[in-house]
This record gives sequence, C-alpha cells and structure tokens, in this order.
Amino acid sequence: MKNMKVIVLALMALFITVLGGAAMGKEAITIGVIVVDIQGDFTKFKNGSLAVEGTDEAYLKAVEENTKKLKTAGFPIYATQDWHPKNHASFFTNHPGKKAFDVIKLNNRDQVLWPPHCVQKTSGAEILLDEKLFKAVVKKGMDKQYDSYSGFQDDGGKKTEMDKNLKKDKIKKVVVYGIATDYCVRATALDAAAAGYKVIMIKSLSRGVAPDTSQKAIDEMKTKGIVVLDDLDLEKIKSN
Ligand SMILES: [Zn+2]
Repeated sequence: MKNMKVIVLALMALFITVLGGAAMGKEAITIGVIVVDIQGDFTKFKNGSLAVEGTDEAYLKAVEENTKKLKTAGFPIYATQDWHPKNHASFFTNHPGKKAFDVIKLNNRDQVLWPPHCVQKTSGAEILLDEKLFKAVVKKGMDKQYDSYSGFQDDGGKKTEMDKNLKKDKIKKVVVYGIATDYCVRATALDAAAAGYKVIMIKSLSRGVAPDTSQKAIDEMKTKGIVVLDDLDLEKIKSN
C-alpha cells in the first residue's frame, strides 16, 4: 500500500514535469511581425514618387487584413518607416547633374539615387495602415549621409530601435513582408537573420522594384536560412 502511494506520487511528479516543460517550450518562441515601409511614396495607390509595381488598393487591403490576422493571433506588430530629411544623400536632386536611378559611390558603397521620397512630416511618408495595429513604429534613414534599407541599421552601421524593441518583447522569430522585396524587405530580413532571429518572409504580401532583383533577393534570403512562404499561413509560421 505504501509502495503504491510512492508510485502514484512519482507518476504525478513526472506528469507535472512533462507538462511544465511543454508549456515552457511553447513560451520560448515568441513571434513578432515586421511590416516594412507601407508608405504613400512607395505605392501606386497614392501615386507615390517612388511607387513600386503592384502596390494598388488590393495589395494594401491584403496587407491590412493579414496584419490584423497576425495581431489577433497574438503576435506583436512592428512597422518600419523610411523617414528622410529633405537633404538626404539618396535623393538624386541633391546631386547636381545626376538623374533618378543613377548609381554613385557614397561612403565607399554603391548608392542608387532615388527620386525624393518619404520626406519627414510629408503625406508621402505616412504609413497607410491603421496605426493601432503597431506595438512600435521604427523610423530609419534620418541621417542625411546614409541610406537605410534595413529596419535594423543604416549603411553607416548606426542601429535603429528595432532590435531593442524585439529584445524587450522577447521576440525570437520574426515574420517580414512589405515594400520592397529587393531593397528594404531584403535588408531587414537579412539583418534579422544575422542578429540571430528565425525569419519568415511572406512573398504575396511583398512587392519588388524589379522582377530580376526580387528573385535574386529571395534566393539570397533562402541561402541565409530564411523561410520564404508564398502566402500567410499561421500553422507554417508557428512550425517553421
Ligand atoms: Zn528611402
């Protein structure tokens, strides 16, 4: 009888340990979402100065609906926002004799010269999604000397608030999508992977400047261990 009691107690202890372990394992992976540069100047919908192909009303609706779905699933959502001063070095208008899409050397790096875009406090810089979706909006590209495709750091290596926000919220895995696949989505996803996060990129919620560079960016992301999903799939996001 005494032995029986010991066995029952031992089994109960084992059961509690297993359950507790499973619960802790589940808590260990906290997923966050980074929505990249959904701003007026990058969209056809707002006739933006640097509008990317396929950024019409249907695209914005899809981004909004799927972002809501992720928020409802309990994942914190972070936005990046390109936020340039008027005299930013990435604008062709700040380089006499140059035109849009020329490539120059800037601080020893190749710099594409863009039409002026996302100038601070202009309507073109506004994020086109409900602000209530976001736990934080991370601004980038404020230093006039450096471009910042990545939501984590600019070309001069200066960190944004992104990593701090993710660490504070104990995020281990990030879902990344937005504009543009071949520039800011690519750089943000690669920097997230380099910083040690698991990364999932969603293709159908992203748009690229050009098909060839977008394909190249996707191949590069895959070689860096980033999981590229065609569409949003909560089960795949949790299991990958
Ligand atoms: Zn920019």
